[in-house]
Amino acid sequence: MLKLKEIKKAYKKTQALEGVSLSLGPGVYALLGPNGAGKSTMMNIITGNLKPKSGQVLWKGEDTEKLGRCFRRILGYAPQQQGLYDVFTGRRFLSYMAALKEIPPSRTHAEIERTAAAVNLTAKLDKKLSTYSGGMKQRILIAQALLGAPELLVMDEPTAGLDPKERIRVRELLAQEGKQKVVLIATHVVSDVEGIAKEMILLKKGRIVAQGDPADLIARFAPTGTMEDVYLQLFGEDETDGQTYPR
Ligand code: ADP
Ligand code: MG
Repeated sequence: MLKLKEIKKAYKKTQALEGVSLSLGPGVYALLGPNGAGKSTMMNIITGNLKPKSGQVLWKGEDTEKLGRCFRRILGYAPQQQGLYDVFTGRRFLSYMAALKEIPPSRTHAEIERTAAAVNLTAKLDKKLSTYSGGMKQRILIAQALLGAPELLVMDEPTAGLDPKERIRVRELLAQEGKQKVVLIATHVVSDVEGIAKEMILLKKGRIVAQGDPADLIARFAPTGTMEDVYLQLFGEDETDGQTYPR
């Protein structure tokens, strides 16, 4: 359903993507790689926020650039940065995002309730975002991506700043979404996607260096180990943010 054809992207000094091609049907896909691998760049190109230097993004065979506004209803995107409107309440923020997505006003209230419940924020909806913790802000970002039940979810480091309990909840939520939708999750935390991703896409310096079913990748790169060992095998010397996360 989602297809990337030979996507290339360069910033002034950096070659961020060097010809990335992908074909994704329904299911959860992990986009794994250390900081600077090109994960966010790839997501920004899929969502149309950035233009590639060359290449194409297709949804069900149609160029997403040509789909234009229609693509907005198909796409749910949780960006990595939290540029939230602090003076808004959670409800106001979701209502604003629902309007941007052109969700009919008659459905907005129900959609806000549904998505807030999915991330366990129902009780906090009428509080200002300025009072939200980092984890709560992250969760409302996830909620806005779910508004309108889009067929494609693009989640950039969705578990950043979440405590272990929230991480598990989000993991389960995304696994559930992946039963019918295309769910792409960028992360450098293997345990966030282990067990829920049907396919791992390992991105290194703008190239896909390995891709496939987790068990196949383990057999190929770390026969006596785990997906974590595959990650270390492929990215061992690469930069990471040095953070460790509970499993
Ligand atoms: P990731 O999300 O995997 O950490 P990014 O896509 O953010 O990787 O970055 C890929 C590369 O592109 C990095 O080398 C990064 O420094 C560079 N980069 C990202 N955004 C910009 C930008 N706006 N201007 C210049 N370079 C950028
Ligand atoms: Mg990133």
